[in-house]
Amino acid sequence: MISSALPIHDYALLDDAECEARIVAAKAKLGKRCIVLGHHYQRDEVFKHADIFGDSLKLSREAAQSEAEYIVFCGVHFMAEVADILSRPEQIAILPDMAAGCSMADMANKIKVQQCWDELAQILDVESTVTPVTYINSAADLKAFCGQHGGIVCTSSNAEKILNWSFAKREKVLFFPDQHLGRNTGYRMGIPLEQMVTWDFNKPMGGLSEQQIRDAKIILWKGYCSVHQAFQPEQIDNFKQKHPETIVISHPEACFEVCQKSDYIGSTEMILKIVREAAANTRWLVATELNLVNRLNQEFSDQGKHVHFMAPTLSMCSTMFRTDPQHLAWVLENLAAGHVVNQVSVPAEQVVLAKKALDNMLLAS
Ligand code: SF4
Repeated sequence: MISSALPIHDYALLDDAECEARIVAAKAKLGKRCIVLGHHYQRDEVFKHADIFGDSLKLSREAAQSEAEYIVFCGVHFMAEVADILSRPEQIAILPDMAAGCSMADMANKIKVQQCWDELAQILDVESTVTPVTYINSAADLKAFCGQHGGIVCTSSNAEKILNWSFAKREKVLFFPDQHLGRNTGYRMGIPLEQMVTWDFNKPMGGLSEQQIRDAKIILWKGYCSVHQAFQPEQIDNFKQKHPETIVISHPEACFEVCQKSDYIGSTEMILKIVREAAANTRWLVATELNLVNRLNQEFSDQGKHVHFMAPTLSMCSTMFRTDPQHLAWVLENLAAGHVVNQVSVPAEQVVLAKKALDNMLLAS
C-alpha cells in the first residue's frame, strides 16, 4: 500500500485510452466495495463506466441499498450530497471533481433564502401560511432549511404531487431555486400565471409589492438552468416547418413558452420512457441536455426513430462535463490503494433536517 494519496496532477496528461484501462483495472480491484453512478447528462467517456445510471434521486437511493462502501457519483455536487444524506453511515460519497457544481443550485443559498423568509415574515405569518419547497437541485443546507420549516424537497418527476402536499398544509409555496419547474408545474395544476410571482433575490422584498405577495399562490425564486434556458419557442416553429410530423418533448426546467408548445413535458426518466415506448419511425425534438439526447438518438436509430436536440447550438451541462476520465481514474486508483479523495460529507445537523424534507417527499410521492 502507498503511504499517501496519488496527486491529481499525475493524471492530468494521461490520454483517455490509458485512463480507460486504469479505470477498468481499479474497478475490478475494488469489486463490489465501490459503485459508480452515472447521471443521464454525463459525457460518454465517463458514463460508460457507470454501474448504474439514472436521475440523481434514483441513483442515490439505489446506491444506499447496495453493498458498496464507496459511492462515486459522476454528476454534480448536490447529487453527491444527496447520496451522502441517503447513504448508510458506513458508506462514503465521492465526487470525482469538486468543481462540478450546478449553476442553478448556486442561484440560491442559505443567506438569500433566509433573507427572503425573513422579509416574507414582515407581511405573512410564514410558518403557518408558506411551505418552502426546494428542487432537489439545491445545496444540502437548503434542504435542511425546508426540513426545519415544515417544507419538502421535489424532483422534476414528482413536483405536482409535492405541490399538492404543500398546499394541503399551507396556502402558499415558496419554490426555489428553479422558477421554470415551479411555474410549469403550477400552471398544469390550474394556478393562473398572475398568482405565481417571481422573487428577484437581488432586490429588497424580491422586487414585489405587498399586495403581489399577499395574492400569490406560489412565490418563484428567480433561478434557472443555463442549459435549459437555451431552448426557445422559435426553435420549435423552425424545426416543425421542415418536419411537421415532429413530436416535441421538453424538460420542465425549460421556459414556460417552450413547454406550452411541447406535446409532452417530463423529467429525464419520463423523456426516456416516452421515446422508448413510442412507435417506430417517429421524429422527436427534445429540450434537455445534449448528452442524453445524443444517446437517445443512437439507442433508437435502428427503430427508425429520429431524436433531435432542440437548440441549434451546443448546450451541454458544462459543470457536469468537468468530470473527465482523468478524475475518475484518479479517485478509483486512490480508493483501490486505500485512500479516499474528494469525499462529500454533509454536516450531521444538516443531514437530520435535510433527511426530514427528503422523507416528506418520499412519503408524499
Ligand atoms: S443541466 Fe442545469 S440543472 Fe442540471 S446539473 Fe447542469 S446546470 Fe444544474
